[in-house]
Amino acid sequence: MKILVINAGSSSLKYQLMDPDTNTVFAKGLCERIGIDGRLTHKIPAKDFKQEFDIPMPTHAEAIAAVIDKLTCKECGVVSSMSEIDAVGHRVVHGGEAFASSVRINDDVMKALEDCIPLAPLHNPANITGIKACKGVMGDNVPMVAVFDTAFHQTMPAKAYMYAVPYEYYEKDKVRRYGFHGTSHRYVSARAAELLNKPIEDLKIISCHMGNGSSIAAIKDGKCVDTSMGFTPLVGLPMGTRCGDLDNGVLQYLMNKYGYSIDEMLNILNKKSGVLGVSGVSSDFRDLEEAAEKGNDRAQLALDMFSYWVAKVVGSYAAAMNGVDVIIFTAGVGENAAGTRADIAKYLTYLGTKMDDAENAKRGEHVVSTPDSKVTMMVIPTDEELVIAQDTKAIVSK
Ligand code: AMP
Repeated sequence: MKILVINAGSSSLKYQLMDPDTNTVFAKGLCERIGIDGRLTHKIPAKDFKQEFDIPMPTHAEAIAAVIDKLTCKECGVVSSMSEIDAVGHRVVHGGEAFASSVRINDDVMKALEDCIPLAPLHNPANITGIKACKGVMGDNVPMVAVFDTAFHQTMPAKAYMYAVPYEYYEKDKVRRYGFHGTSHRYVSARAAELLNKPIEDLKIISCHMGNGSSIAAIKDGKCVDTSMGFTPLVGLPMGTRCGDLDNGVLQYLMNKYGYSIDEMLNILNKKSGVLGVSGVSSDFRDLEEAAEKGNDRAQLALDMFSYWVAKVVGSYAAAMNGVDVIIFTAGVGENAAGTRADIAKYLTYLGTKMDDAENAKRGEHVVSTPDSKVTMMVIPTDEELVIAQDTKAIVSK
C-alpha cells in the first residue's frame, strides 16, 4: 500500500509517500513559500536524489498539484500515476475533545475540524486548507485520514487536564490541557515496549520529546496520564524559542510597562523566548553547545535551564505515576545531544538511574543506561510519518 502523508503549515507543506508496512519512503519533500512565490524540494531516498524547483504556489492547491506532478513525473517520479496512491494521511494539530484517535475524513469530520479552529488558530486552518487542496486535486475517491497531535493525550484524567480556573471556562469554552506531540509520544512509547519485549500495559514510561518544540508525557498502561504542553504548545519546558511555564503576572507587568498588545507579547513568548531568548545566541542546541564551550555564560545557562526543567518534569511524572520504568529521549535534541541527556540523567540518580556513558555517546535507537540501572533510559528516533501512514492504512482498510 502507498500512503501519502501530508503535513500542511500556513506557508509550507511537507509530504512523504511511503509504505506503512515496510516503512519504505519512496519520495518525500517540502513545499515552501506558499502564497509568496513557491519552492519545492523533492527527494528520493533510494536514489539519493534531491532537486529543488521554483514553482508558483499562490495557494496550497498549486502546492499539492506540484507534489503530485513530481511524484508521477518521468524524471523524478516514483509512481506512474496518481491512482497508485491508495490513501492520504493528514497531520492535524488540534482535535480538541472531539477526537481521541485518528479518523477517516468526511463532511462531519471537516465540520468538527472547523469547530476546533478557535483552539489552534495558527495551525488548524492550514491543516484544513491542506485537506481541501488535496481533495480538490485528487478528488473525493482517494480516502483521507486525519491524525491528531492531541489525540494520544485524551486519556489524561480530569485531575491532570483541568486548570484551576472557574469551571465554566472548561464547560463553556473548553479551556483545559490538551497536550501536543501525541503522535511522537505514542510512537516512541510503543516502540520502547516492543524493543524491551514487554507489554506496554506493564510499563510506566516517561517520554521526553526534545526538539525545537519540547514536551514530556507520562504514560501508564500504554495511556497518557499527563503531559507538559497545555491548552497551547507554549507551556511546559523552555523550548527553542517558546518560553515554557511562566507566571501570568509577567504578561501584565511587561504589557503595562512597554505598551505591548497581547499579540506582541505572545509573539515574544512564542518566537523570541526559550533558549534563544536566554542565550541571545540561537534556538539551535548545536550553536548553544558551541558557544558554551567557548565560554558564553548565557548559552551555558540556557542549556542548564533546559536540562533542569526536563529533570523537574520527569521527577514530577515519576511522582504522578508512583514510579517509572523507562525514560525515552527523542526528537532533534533527545536523539542527538548526548551531553544534554547526560546532564538530565545526573539529576535522576535518586530514581536509581545509571547512564552508560559509552552507550550514550552512540547514535540511533538503543538503550543508554547500564544493565543494572533501575530505570531503563533509551534513545528512540521518533517517526510521526510512519504512525500517520499506519493509522491511515488501518482506517481505510476497515
Ligand atoms: P526537531 O524539532 O525535532 O527537528 O529538532 C530540531 C532541533 O534539534 C535543532 O534546533 C537542534 O536544537 C537540535 N539538534 C539537531 N541535531 C543536533 C545535534 N547533533 N546536537 C544537538 N542538538 C541537535
